[in-house]
Amino acid sequence: MRLSRYFLPVLREDPKEAEIASHRLMLRAGMIRQEAAGIYSWLPLGFRVLKKIEAIVRREQERAGSIEMLMPTIQPAELWKRSGRYDDYGREMLRISDRKEHELLYGPTNEEMITDIVARFVQSYKQLPLNLFHIQWKFRDEIRPRFGVMRGREFLMKDGYSFDLTREEGEHAYNKMFVSYLRTFAAMGLKAIPMRAETGPIGGNLSHEFLILADTGESQVYFDAAFHEKDWRTFELDYDDPAAVAAVVDEFTSMYAATEEMHDEERFEREVPPERRVSGRGIEVGHIFFFGDKYSKPLGAKVLGPDGEEHHLQCGSYGIGVSRLVGAIIEAGHDENGIVWPEPVAPFQAGLINLRQGDEATDAACEGLYEKLANAGLEVLYDDTSERAGEKFVRMDLIGLPWQVIVGPRGLRDGVVEIKNRASGARENVPLDNAVDWLRQCLMG
Ligand code: ATP
Ligand code: MG
Repeated sequence: MRLSRYFLPVLREDPKEAEIASHRLMLRAGMIRQEAAGIYSWLPLGFRVLKKIEAIVRREQERAGSIEMLMPTIQPAELWKRSGRYDDYGREMLRISDRKEHELLYGPTNEEMITDIVARFVQSYKQLPLNLFHIQWKFRDEIRPRFGVMRGREFLMKDGYSFDLTREEGEHAYNKMFVSYLRTFAAMGLKAIPMRAETGPIGGNLSHEFLILADTGESQVYFDAAFHEKDWRTFELDYDDPAAVAAVVDEFTSMYAATEEMHDEERFEREVPPERRVSGRGIEVGHIFFFGDKYSKPLGAKVLGPDGEEHHLQCGSYGIGVSRLVGAIIEAGHDENGIVWPEPVAPFQAGLINLRQGDEATDAACEGLYEKLANAGLEVLYDDTSERAGEKFVRMDLIGLPWQVIVGPRGLRDGVVEIKNRASGARENVPLDNAVDWLRQCLMG
């Protein structure tokens, strides 16, 4: 992408309304614009990150056997009256009526709708297990939307739902999602600690939240420092092997970790030696629940079992805050100059900076590199504007692309360009002709 033809409305000044780094940086880097309290437009740079996160979530969901579909944002109130949640949900629910005065609502979550779909089409245990997910906008009329996309009113969520015949199979489905969440967040460069959680309005009895550590997090958390030593990526496992999946869950749940609501100071002190007791702030990026027949009963989702009897389905639901993750990743990765994207979610993999736009040799070198990088399949943002070098550096650091290729007349006289790593600040002079291979290797290694 040529910056001269792109739409990247960066702000020079810190926006007054932003209280935390991620919100400030998203506004400054031209990623989002607020349209109303807690409601945002995703400008091109922000949208690219959102799509990258979505793709990782999708890949790991599918790997764990969940099937993608799409349900609408608008739902009939009638479904929610059947589950009893229409009144329970209170003022967080945005209620709408259409021209025929049918009661509708903008979905805050989809347990009712998916259970109704499954009730209609699934009649036999032979159609199970079933795990379905979608990635769709939600609306919750939060009392205090704040921190940009971290606590929006409209936000993008991956929500998945599992349906099984027995409690045992349902717990296997839950465990699969538990493991897939570890993998999902690790793939974004995050360590999300699973913590036993309260179930809230979704209900049920088995639940974990996944939190990443950040000083600006809204949750107080307590955990065993042993989590810091864990390798989140090592487990390649067979999701169809219940014992193997349960073993990973056991490994991660055997260490103490709890949010404020579930924290038990006595147990913490009993189980964790003093030097390993950590408390801090965390951001909830995912939440999984197992709730048995809580919705399948009122919504009539049942199947004929192998015993010839009817059984209500055993269900769970699994959420990931896709849009919140954009902010959470920035909270976990930024410095005084701007955002520092982990490679897998970066909007572009590299920035190409032309230090002397209009200089024949520099332009030619940049054009050549830009074409070769594109041919090598790399996503590059080429700063071909005629602004001063200083401004280009500041902007490139602000938007946080993992690598910068800096091309100027002085280096070119020696046949080199400079390649800079945004995270470490390390710079290296690389022969112009090797730059593409060099970068490709960095990105793969
Ligand atoms: P919170 O405790 O932060 O209000 P929640 O427990 O109400 O969240 P869930 O119903 O568990 O939320 O939703 C699943 C995921 O959706 C959460 O883990 C979070 O990442 C994300 N999420 C929830 N509410 C919001 C919001 N207002 N803005 C952005 N993301 C949200
Ligand atoms: Mg939650």
